Amino acid sequence: MKLKRSLLETTTATPSTMGSEIKPPASGILTSPDRLRKIDQLREKNIDVILPLPTLVAVGDQSSGKSSLLESVTGIPFPRGQELCTRYATQITHRRDPEVQIIITIIPAPQSTEAEKISLRSYRKELSSTTQLRDQFAKILDEVNVYMKIKTDKNPEGEKTFSRDILKIEKCGPTEDYLTVIDVPGIFRLTSKGQTTEGDRNLVRDMVTGFIKDKRTIILAVLPANVDVMTQEILALAEQYDPDGERTLGVLTKPDLVIERSAKEAVCNLVAGRKKALNLGYYLVKNRGGDDDDDSKDDSGIRRKERDLFQQSPWCNLPQERVGVAALRERLQDLLGEITDKAYPELRSEARKKLAEAREQQDALGPPRQTEREQQQYLAQIAAKFQQIVRAALEANYSSHSAFDEHGLRLITQVVSITDTFNTLMRKKGHTYSFVKVKTRDSDDKLVNSDDDSEVDDGNEEDDDPAYDGEYDGEYDGEYDGENDAVHSELANRGTVIHIPPELESFTNIVKQPIITVKQDNSNWIRNMYLESRGIELGTFSPIVLASAFRDQTTNWGLITEHYISLIISIIHEFTLSILNTICAGEKLYEAIKSILMDDLLARYAKGMDYAKYLVQVEREKKPYTVNHYFSSNLQKARGDRASEALKKNCYWDDHSGAYAVKFEHIKTAVTNKSNQEHAQDDIHDILKSYYKVARKRFVDNVWLYAVDHHLLSGPNSPLTLFSEQWVLGLDEDSLNAIAGESRSTRDKRKELTKKIADLEEALRILK
Ligand code: GDP
Ligand code: MG
Repeated sequence: MKLKRSLLETTTATPSTMGSEIKPPASGILTSPDRLRKIDQLREKNIDVILPLPTLVAVGDQSSGKSSLLESVTGIPFPRGQELCTRYATQITHRRDPEVQIIITIIPAPQSTEAEKISLRSYRKELSSTTQLRDQFAKILDEVNVYMKIKTDKNPEGEKTFSRDILKIEKCGPTEDYLTVIDVPGIFRLTSKGQTTEGDRNLVRDMVTGFIKDKRTIILAVLPANVDVMTQEILALAEQYDPDGERTLGVLTKPDLVIERSAKEAVCNLVAGRKKALNLGYYLVKNRGGDDDDDSKDDSGIRRKERDLFQQSPWCNLPQERVGVAALRERLQDLLGEITDKAYPELRSEARKKLAEAREQQDALGPPRQTEREQQQYLAQIAAKFQQIVRAALEANYSSHSAFDEHGLRLITQVVSITDTFNTLMRKKGHTYSFVKVKTRDSDDKLVNSDDDSEVDDGNEEDDDPAYDGEYDGEYDGEYDGENDAVHSELANRGTVIHIPPELESFTNIVKQPIITVKQDNSNWIRNMYLESRGIELGTFSPIVLASAFRDQTTNWGLITEHYISLIISIIHEFTLSILNTICAGEKLYEAIKSILMDDLLARYAKGMDYAKYLVQVEREKKPYTVNHYFSSNLQKARGDRASEALKKNCYWDDHSGAYAVKFEHIKTAVTNKSNQEHAQDDIHDILKSYYKVARKRFVDNVWLYAVDHHLLSGPNSPLTLFSEQWVLGLDEDSLNAIAGESRSTRDKRKELTKKIADLEEALRILK
């Protein structure tokens, strides 16, 4: 890597070290030629489309002599004739090259469509000399009009009067200077009927200002000497964009047409700088006139006609460095060098900035995806990212992704919190009837069971207590609080606003309705049930009674559980969609993935819900049974409590032993003065209560473990695992294309950006 880099550096360094005419930069020595050459290299790569490069632009009124001036300066023989007024900008570039040739191409306007760009770029003419160009120019311009769709007599199908496309004329040769000039349509004041409209006028103005507003543009304000300079709009426009006049040069044309002595004097005053109107001053040039075919030049390349004119009075008295095309040309080169020197560091930083922007835009588009494989890779990447976030969400690793800043996306935290509430709700409202609490102590005397820490069942969790102590305090097992609580508010009021999208309606109808009341009628229901289902049993009861009592006691379980699962599903759903939305580039992609995922997602939610319902069904319909030892210790404790309750009235304080005591004969009567029926009822109650508690805890755990954790969260078929790389690989071609296929405009955009990036990288290499 390192080696490669240094190789690259040597290669790019070579041209400048080889150019022996270039002296090392030192104070006072202009490095402009080198820089101008580099600027021209940039132009060669068409980089000026992205990055405005130092340029000369001739602006002025129509027929002020812009095209003629540029012909004088560049030697490109523009065809003359009034009807051929410029309809687009023409860029004339000189390039030093061993081969003499003129290359004509079209630079499409940035806003052209891709098809237009392709057509415009296909135009190319190569000519070997200016003579050949002169012969063919009119024909070439006709062709160009067709390409640019400009309406003329010869091209009546054309659509526009003016175009933002640029005609580029490259003049190559071993003696060419680094000079680039742009000829723009003249600013016209009056819209001539049938030909130019207000819109055209604005377009031209726009085009002109587009060129002159750039700091790197030298403005050649072309003014005909035979009209009053001060009436020319262009000066005001130039001043607007170059208020200090640092890059505006006045060029007076048509001196041969100035007849009056006073008019000549006014021109001389301007050129000699006596009337200071422009910082950089005025130059006086004479171009070819309309009927002037004589283009002969003297030995130093100066046109005879111009030289002859300027030898006459009053022009011969003017400072010679301000008179004539040759002088102007020299000045322009210097000026361009200065501007380039100034612009150079800026160009570099701007190229870097533009490159970064273009890369960012390219990143936003995602990797290219035209082929099936590219689409697959693209989607698989998104899916992998999704899974990564899911893993983080399940591990509560929220610092790993900014999406988690939004509280609603803290998935596992929300789930745990709702599960806690589910557990509490099951404890408080899971049962249909409240159980009896048997008291073993009296608050008035000191008969306090040391195991009993007066815990009540309705608020504080008792679960951690291995012995299930302290449940029997002789009151109704205090879960009844007299309110009609909607499960919904209980579960939903966890600081989470749950938003239920329409697609989840089948899971969430339950959310709105359940209102659960725990009935306080504690003893009658057991008695009634016992009496109704009693068979020929001696001193005991049928196991069927217990089963049906348990079923009666658990009618709320389904409701609470379905509601809980609905909430979990809506949290998972919201999470899934939000994450998907954040990682998808663009709404279209998100919607496409969502719509293809949706059915499978809903099916997986339904599996979780079904499993929860199945757990409810199993718990309620199987014969009550458990091997959990908490059941027997609970039951034994309940029986013990009942016995001690019965003995309580016979107990006394025994000073000798320092404890409460009961006489032996009392024990016999205490446990025998109940009827068989009462015994059976008490037994049913105590067994049911002991079993219910164990079953409820088992159930809540199972709902969590199987329905929620396994089916909805972390199991291999949970909805969260759906959008995975595997899913992407399983998509057929059509779905793949529907989701990840690129629109034409994205494709075009990508192509354009790829070229832009390559160009800018090249620019940075050149500007080094
Ligand atoms: P543009 O519309 O600003 O590009 O102006 P042109 O360059 O097309 O010039 C308009 C007319 O003025 C043409 O017929 C030119 O030949 C003529 N013209 C331009 N410069 C001079 C000049 O210095 N002297 C004379 N006599 N005619 C000129
Ligand atoms: Mg013109």
